[in-house]
Amino acid sequence: METKKKKRNILIGLDGVPHLLIERYTRKGIMPNLRRFINSNTFLKMNSSVPEVSSVAWSSIITGTNPGEHGIFGFMDVNHRNYSLMFPDARDLQVAPFWQRYKQAAVINVPSTYPAQPMNGFLISGFVSIDLEGAVYPRSMLDEIKTSRYRIDVNNSLAKESPSGFIDDLHKTLEVRLKFLEKIWDREERDLIVFVVSGTDRLNHYFWNAFDDISNSYKSTFEEYYNLVDRAIGRILDRCTDDDNVIIFSEHGFETLDVEFYVNRFLQEKGYVQYKNDDPKTPVDLDITTKAFALDPGRIYINSSDKFLFGRVKPTEKETLMTELEILFKNLVIDGKKMIKKVYRGNLLYKGPFVKNAPDLILLGEDGVDLKGKFSVKKMTDKRMFNGKHKHNNAFITFSRKKEIQDTSKPYDVEKIIKLLE
Ligand SMILES: [Zn+2]
Repeated sequence: METKKKKRNILIGLDGVPHLLIERYTRKGIMPNLRRFINSNTFLKMNSSVPEVSSVAWSSIITGTNPGEHGIFGFMDVNHRNYSLMFPDARDLQVAPFWQRYKQAAVINVPSTYPAQPMNGFLISGFVSIDLEGAVYPRSMLDEIKTSRYRIDVNNSLAKESPSGFIDDLHKTLEVRLKFLEKIWDREERDLIVFVVSGTDRLNHYFWNAFDDISNSYKSTFEEYYNLVDRAIGRILDRCTDDDNVIIFSEHGFETLDVEFYVNRFLQEKGYVQYKNDDPKTPVDLDITTKAFALDPGRIYINSSDKFLFGRVKPTEKETLMTELEILFKNLVIDGKKMIKKVYRGNLLYKGPFVKNAPDLILLGEDGVDLKGKFSVKKMTDKRMFNGKHKHNNAFITFSRKKEIQDTSKPYDVEKIIKLLE
């Protein structure tokens, strides 16, 4: 370990890596650096945000607040006046990310930070970044990033066309990002480092079967990538001193995807959703008689007159309708499989000034059930390209301070990560 004077905060995010995988791979010797870290520090299970999508989870982590405060409820949001879909980005985040409080930060590849916003230090946005130009702050770093061959995302289309090409791309992307981190870390005395590995989430979506199935032909490839991630962690930890505050975590867990459940198709069958045309794509195609509709992954909006321009449900009818839907979803079984584990009410789950924009109900799928808000599907359920999916309750966190966490029987949760730095 090198000797440095000042205490720094170092965060390493491993996108979509479940607690179970860390337990197994540290035990099996696939992740020896992480094993050493965990053995002498605190290692806990963690709950993701509701819903467990990256944009909501990361917005909660970087602000230390819930969606009712930071204002991000999903990857897409609906305009209450004309029902069009909007893609909220870093400018829509209603609470400043924690790195704004630092003097010389380096933030690399954190999802949902595009376009890069001014801060003290250096930031390059992660997924979803539309272009490199908007993903970098300060802009004066752009040329250097381009010549370093930094990759803003992996080529996901390769996953099916050329699995080996995809894996190779994941390896190269991690290496080029890490090299860039090392370069700018050396250049300035940093007080905060945030580095996110997103290849873990991508690999898990396409190759999750390789985690549990011994006969899977990608098993060793899968493990090799996690070993590479561990070596990246080792390189970062080698730069840390005993005084540094290190936190390594995932923003959601992962599990096998058994079935996709199309919530709008179900609502249509039960008479809650009606369309204006035969090829609906977005909420714009909803008929005004629609009582409730869904956005990804399982966010239900009541088409009420107090919220939506063409809403037909009166505020006085809302409670009855929500109770009706709660019962319907809680008891829903398709082909012998229960679809919904839990139904939350937006106004009870979230707290803060933006709760008014929250979905009315938020569904949490049963294990293996991937909820989808698609409008164009004809079937109620299907199994498509992915073989893994996000899971709410098996993310992990490990950190270098034995903080006052008394009750380790309850999972930690994503909004509290930043509080460990204070
Ligand atoms: Zn994912």
